[in-house]
Amino acid sequence: MKTIRARLTVAYACVLGATLLVFAGVMLSASRTAAEGALQRRVDSVARLGARIIEQAGTGLYDRVIVAEQSRMAPPPLSASIVSRLGALPGYVIVADSSRLLYSSPEVALLVQADQDKLARAVVRVFSPAQSAGFVSLDTVRLMARVRFEQSGSRGSGLRVLSAESAAELDITKLEIFPPILFAFPLIFLLSIVAAWVLAGANLEPVDHLISDLEAIEDGRSLHRRLPVESQENELDRLAEKINAMIARLEGSFGALRRFTADASHELKTPLTVLRVDIERAMASSHASGDQLPALEEALAETSRMANLVDSLLTLARADEGRFDIDREPVDLLPLVQDVFETAEILGEGAGIEVRLIAIEPIVVHGDPVRLRQLFLNLLTNAIKYTPRGGTVTVALERRGEEVAFAVHDTGLGLAGADLPFIFDRFWRADRARARGTERGGFGLGLAIAQWIAQAHGGMINVASRLGRGSTFTVMLPAPPPVERRSLPSASAE
Ligand code: ADP
Repeated sequence: MKTIRARLTVAYACVLGATLLVFAGVMLSASRTAAEGALQRRVDSVARLGARIIEQAGTGLYDRVIVAEQSRMAPPPLSASIVSRLGALPGYVIVADSSRLLYSSPEVALLVQADQDKLARAVVRVFSPAQSAGFVSLDTVRLMARVRFEQSGSRGSGLRVLSAESAAELDITKLEIFPPILFAFPLIFLLSIVAAWVLAGANLEPVDHLISDLEAIEDGRSLHRRLPVESQENELDRLAEKINAMIARLEGSFGALRRFTADASHELKTPLTVLRVDIERAMASSHASGDQLPALEEALAETSRMANLVDSLLTLARADEGRFDIDREPVDLLPLVQDVFETAEILGEGAGIEVRLIAIEPIVVHGDPVRLRQLFLNLLTNAIKYTPRGGTVTVALERRGEEVAFAVHDTGLGLAGADLPFIFDRFWRADRARARGTERGGFGLGLAIAQWIAQAHGGMINVASRLGRGSTFTVMLPAPPPVERRSLPSASAE
């Protein structure tokens, strides 16, 4: 749930879900109220009809309504014409006086006996002129009932006419509006969420573009590029404009820094060369006394170091400015690696390290032979520099699919895992190596240059290293597939 798109969609889903729930609740309750009103009106009108039938039958005289006196066992029968008219009324209809049941409709007879009794009791005991309507809960059904009280009869006894209908239709699930809500609302919910996801994505697309445009500028060499700005009204365009202004300022200071480094290195080159030649001349001169020689030797070594530093700085400054063109030509790596290996063997001999070439094959790449030699030699001199006396350095050149791998493995100091992300940074050196004194001391620029050369050839450098166990630096370069030698088809003799 980290992206803004996902968060917006979830927030929208929550708000929409809550709104739909409230809306569904309001609609269901309104529809239930309407259904209850309709049911009530139906029950009322049946009760009124029933009362009128009774009333009209005997001009209000109770005695003329009843044809025969009641027995204790069965309700006293009404005249056949009244029964048939009452029978035409729908639903549960009961006619009773204050103590006896005079008529019950066929629907009442369909109820279980316990429910029939309960309903008959309710007519007499539950309802009164003050409370003549309400729900009656029987064992098998819940009814909405209405009782009309008719003051009639010479005996002064009141007649009650009950009309009732099942209240099952008031159940939420039985309401007419329930199925549409049940199916339409989840569908609306899902479709809206999909729409919200799509809309959020579409609206955030410019942010994605902004990010990928910025990623392309990130590496410092693309500071001449700018983010596209379409209008002034859009917040993202205003942000892009601000970022553009910032990039412009960065470009200015980066450029000034690069120019300064390149110019300073360039200006230092000539005096250093002159200094070196002068020292060499002084050392060769017959006037140099024996106690002057060590000082001159040290001065020469420091001058060479400084000349190397200036050279590396100039290389990187020019590479940053894009002023260093790589001359591309087909390069056979076999003799080149052989040559680098021989140089490394000599260096290794001096440092008491065995240098071995464990694999080599003829592979042609498209590149700059001088830069490739510099790249391979950088890695090999590092391997020798950071491997103690008695260690081994192995070199291998082999094809791996569409690529060529030049691997240098050493049994030396190795690097801590935490240091690995920084080893290609300029002037970065592992602390313990720095502490080892000047004989191993470089400036921390060799790997930066090596990586630049590999990248300029469309390749990369992989490093695997463990502290105290040694390291493997592998240069991967793209290589065209080898030209297959086709053998001539041999004629088959019969
Ligand atoms: P330097 O001139 O200091 O060798 P590099 O850029 O070539 O500069 O290397 C940077 C740092 O990486 C070195 O100072 C060293 O600490 C570490 N390093 C490079 N190669 C190796 C290696 N083969 N084994 C151990 N550490 C290495």
